[in-house]
Amino acid sequence: MPVGVAQKLEKLQCNFLWGDEIEKRKLHAVDWISVCKSKAKGGLGIGRMIDKNEGLLTKWVWRFGREESPLWKKVLRPKYAVKGSEVLWNWQSNVTASFFVKTIANLFKPETKYAILIKEGFKVVIGCGDKADFWNDIKVGERPLKEVFSRMYALAVEKEGQVKKFGNWDSSIWRWEIKLRRLTFDWEKEQWNNLLSFLGGITIRNSVKDSIAWKFSSNGLFSVGSFRMRLDELDNEDQWLTRSSWHGFCPHKVEVFAWQLLRNRVLVREVLQRFGCLQDSSLVCPLCNNGIESINHLFLHCHWTWDLWTRCMGWWNVSSCSMVLSKIGGRAGLG
Ligand SMILES: [Zn+2]
Repeated sequence: MPVGVAQKLEKLQCNFLWGDEIEKRKLHAVDWISVCKSKAKGGLGIGRMIDKNEGLLTKWVWRFGREESPLWKKVLRPKYAVKGSEVLWNWQSNVTASFFVKTIANLFKPETKYAILIKEGFKVVIGCGDKADFWNDIKVGERPLKEVFSRMYALAVEKEGQVKKFGNWDSSIWRWEIKLRRLTFDWEKEQWNNLLSFLGGITIRNSVKDSIAWKFSSNGLFSVGSFRMRLDELDNEDQWLTRSSWHGFCPHKVEVFAWQLLRNRVLVREVLQRFGCLQDSSLVCPLCNNGIESINHLFLHCHWTWDLWTRCMGWWNVSSCSMVLSKIGGRAGLG
């Protein structure tokens, strides 16, 4: 999906949320990026359109690794001379690549959050070694063999190829066979032995094909939802207070109002003035005519409000009304 289309769709969502009309634009109390964040991170859980789109594109990476021989894969493989891993193919585009391939290749641009997520999330599961790339797909922790055993990689005759090319079946026993250009020197022997020892712990299963698994779902299967959830986890912002306001104890619109309140974004007179919407009007609270109508005042300090709170606390048999409210107000930035 082109970025411009994603932006237009988000604009429609945004207008709907705040009740904009064609001729009348209303105040958007909370910025759209914050609104899109998950409830756990202080938003309404709407999600960015671009993230959903990238998740759907990543699904093609997943399908490429999982599906055996669909027509689209049969076309792509020779056209783009797929090399390296045939399970987790690092999509690369060239000038003649289609729009489809280019957009997926963009996911792999280094340092983007999507590239990091793909690198972290997809894991190649070795079966018979028919598709996984030996030096890149076998990992020691998070790092590929060619990095961890870089000296051996430099000495290896074969620098690329599927796992099955690096060994043979002897009756029913798999024996690794990594050819080096020369005999190892004494100082290289330790790494050589470590490599063989590590490979000895890998089980090659003749009857199972190599496949791909997704780390961030309980069943190992990729889904756009789990992709978005992981993206959300990468956002370090801690919003425990707004997270705690979504329990379904009251109607949803009341929860949304509480969410706005906890973000200090209810459109009281003081906020309206800050937005430049109240130039000449009075800021005084119309309930008590004694104090500026700020969020603190209207929801805590106004004596009308305070009386209401006290009654509510009485109904709930909570004795220390001031302590509870000051705690809530302080954490919400209301105190
Ligand atoms: Zn008042």
